Amino acid sequence: MHFEDLRYYGRQVIDWVADYLEHIEQWPVLSQVQPGEVRAKLPKSAPQEPEPFEAILGDLTEIILPGLTHWQSPNFFAYFPANHSWPSILGDLVSSGLGVQGMMWATSPACTELESHVLDWLADLLGLPEQFKSASTGGGVIQDSASSATLCAIVAARERATAGQANRSGVRAPLVAYASTEAHSSVEKGIRIAGLGSDNLRRIEVDRQFAMRPDHLEAAIAEDRAAGRIPTIVCATVGTTSCTAMDPLTEIGTICRRHGVWLHVDAALAGTAAICPEFRHFQQGVELADSYCFNPHKWMFTNFDCDCFYVADRNALVAALGIWPEYLSNPASQSGAVIDYRDWQVPLGRRFRALKLWFVLRSFGVRGIQEKIRQHVAWAQELAEWVRQDPRFELAAPVPLNLVCFRLRAGDEANQRLLNALNRSGKLYLNHTRLDGKFTLRLCVGQTSTQRHHVQRAWELIQSFAEDALR
Ligand SMILES: *Cc1c(COP(=O)(O)O)cnc(C)c1O
Repeated sequence: MHFEDLRYYGRQVIDWVADYLEHIEQWPVLSQVQPGEVRAKLPKSAPQEPEPFEAILGDLTEIILPGLTHWQSPNFFAYFPANHSWPSILGDLVSSGLGVQGMMWATSPACTELESHVLDWLADLLGLPEQFKSASTGGGVIQDSASSATLCAIVAARERATAGQANRSGVRAPLVAYASTEAHSSVEKGIRIAGLGSDNLRRIEVDRQFAMRPDHLEAAIAEDRAAGRIPTIVCATVGTTSCTAMDPLTEIGTICRRHGVWLHVDAALAGTAAICPEFRHFQQGVELADSYCFNPHKWMFTNFDCDCFYVADRNALVAALGIWPEYLSNPASQSGAVIDYRDWQVPLGRRFRALKLWFVLRSFGVRGIQEKIRQHVAWAQELAEWVRQDPRFELAAPVPLNLVCFRLRAGDEANQRLLNALNRSGKLYLNHTRLDGKFTLRLCVGQTSTQRHHVQRAWELIQSFAEDALR
């Protein structure tokens, strides 16, 4: 290892990243390249001889940057954010530098213990129930994504429902899962991977606010039981991807308890808001859940990948995912006194992701995170009010937090034209969904560097492009 090179070029790379972020607004937010354009600039084969690092950095600027959509731009309002911050960038850098593999406690005790500890901190900060904490029956673990968390919940529910039979001999009895029609596509993916089959996923109807209807859930479970099928898991959403609808957890959880069905709560984006006590009511009833996840890599200033996944009963998770080959056996694992996170996830290996969360929580402080979340919500509420006041537009859904769903009253084509024109301008980036069958624009305020004036300018652009779209 050339330590001097690491120091010298390491400083250059940090400067390069800082310069990029400082001047990010000069780039069109949505990348303008055509398919194949980036690859056409790359050599056909890998270099035979070592190249100078300067050449690599140069190509980053010349070839890679134009081919990026600038997710950290303050004018990025599409999808949900994948925001970050300087402490999280540095936390991830340290993780790379340490290069430890934290599959078990014994392979790097601090990697496991910091993770358990920081996830306990977060359970308190989000007002999650005691059973989700490591000193109780459950605990938290960092997953790469909400999709993986949901998959792990489904597999644990499957094993609980079949008393371990599915792991031994495959899924035999028809196991049934439930999620609203607005639930994320990762639920169906998880159902497929876990072998339940997408025909056994019941999509429960939603109400006018796009939240799951508990009466329909109850009816579907009763029907499946009467037909001899096994209701296995309900995936409820706090903050759906389309429009941040909030499924009513208390009513759903009560039904799950009554029928012995696993309740998984997916709060990928909206979970972060619970760090502000005034937004915690959206996940009232979460104490009835068997598992819960949210993504600090969406709205909590921690770069991808970082999903926090909690279970109320860690034994159920380990029974489903645990595997004990001889070459991994060690006295600490055998003592039962430690957590081996390899048994809480799909892969064996894992990197030291708790570092970036720890860096973020300490550098922002709880107060710093709350302040940013409150600003994002306040600016989204302001935008919603501007939309209400413009007779050409309508709000397409309630705005509980930081996502505004709106459209021109003039119909799908006008809205599609408006969206295309806005994104082609490069000045901002938003995307669309379909609500009540209508093409709807989504604008989510959640970037680390977004300020009020960015939201204000976005609305000005939307208003001025609307004139053309309506012509
Ligand atoms: C974004 C999102 C997901 C998927 O997140 P990944 O971490 O990318 O898997 C799942 N559920 C909801 C509600 C989401 O908004």
